[in-house]
Amino acid sequence: MLDSKVFANQLINWYEENKRDLPWRKTADPYRIWLSEIILQQTRVAQGLPYYERFVEEFPTIHDLANASETEVLRLWQGLGYYSRARNLHACAKMVVDSFGGKFPSEFDELLKLKGIGRYTAAAIASFAFNQPNAVVDGNVYRVLSRVFGIDDDVSTSQGPKVFELRANELLDAQRSNLYNQAIMEFGAMQCLPKSPACGVCPFMESCFAFNHNKIEVLPVKTKKTKVRKRYFTYLVFHSDAGIWLKERGKGDVWQGLYDFYLLEDTKPMGLNEVIAALYKLGLTHSIIGEESKLYEHVLTHQRIFANFVKIELDNEGARLLSTHSEMKQYTLEQIDVLPKPVLMVKYLEDQSF
Ligand code: SF4
Repeated sequence: MLDSKVFANQLINWYEENKRDLPWRKTADPYRIWLSEIILQQTRVAQGLPYYERFVEEFPTIHDLANASETEVLRLWQGLGYYSRARNLHACAKMVVDSFGGKFPSEFDELLKLKGIGRYTAAAIASFAFNQPNAVVDGNVYRVLSRVFGIDDDVSTSQGPKVFELRANELLDAQRSNLYNQAIMEFGAMQCLPKSPACGVCPFMESCFAFNHNKIEVLPVKTKKTKVRKRYFTYLVFHSDAGIWLKERGKGDVWQGLYDFYLLEDTKPMGLNEVIAALYKLGLTHSIIGEESKLYEHVLTHQRIFANFVKIELDNEGARLLSTHSEMKQYTLEQIDVLPKPVLMVKYLEDQSF
């Protein structure tokens, strides 16, 4: 079995030779490190990088971010998905400003108390910014450790992650936790990939359990699969010469705080009958049903959303009724442009001319 010191040295050597040049690696500023870590959760580096740059430019300090409105933060986040991350980011900035005078705490346990910071992010900030001896543990780390050391604990159980966290902290090079953690993350992202890892040029090839026992396909063990729910949306795009009606999405569902059109939802695709029934309910029987869009698909971790859009033209009376009997408000295209919106809607609006 590979000695922990040898493992750490080989890993760090590999990192020094292969690391990507990324802006958050050139700083020890906990604000920027935290920003990059939140942006990169569930997001590829290529996708997250422009968002990181935009956030740093728009909000150069944590005070700037804390003082921004939630709408501004969500608008800048638009397109990254998992919008609760953006709301938590904003709330966390406020907590750090209000409770810590704008300076992030350096201890893992203190970081964990902040909004939106889980064990992985707390360890990342503690080690990258303060070189504290806390090992990061995420999907990359499960993969690397399970394969190199043959750990077959199931990562989808409540016990599995604890086993990995314990092992990860035993293996950590505590004097160089910053480098070590960067190295293992990069190794998981670039070398020991989920499919087709680059074993032929791997420094651990000789000692790697998975490679030598033909277990690459089965490690890490994850038995519980994520259930995906299908949702069918039909958006009614109410419009008149003066603008388009939108509403802010409330709590308890995806995209809280973002703006969208009037929504009908079902577990199966809907047709014209459902649209007419909705108009009838709203008292909008004189409105003109216009063009129906193609079907747009949007995939989230637990959901697959299929959406189509139907334009509904309102006369003055219809506009009055809609504004009186619903939470919908009318916006001009210029106003809509700066509101935070689900990507589905952005794509639809790009395809349209109003
Ligand atoms: S030999 Fe292959 S499976 Fe093992 S650590 Fe290297 S890349 Fe991963």
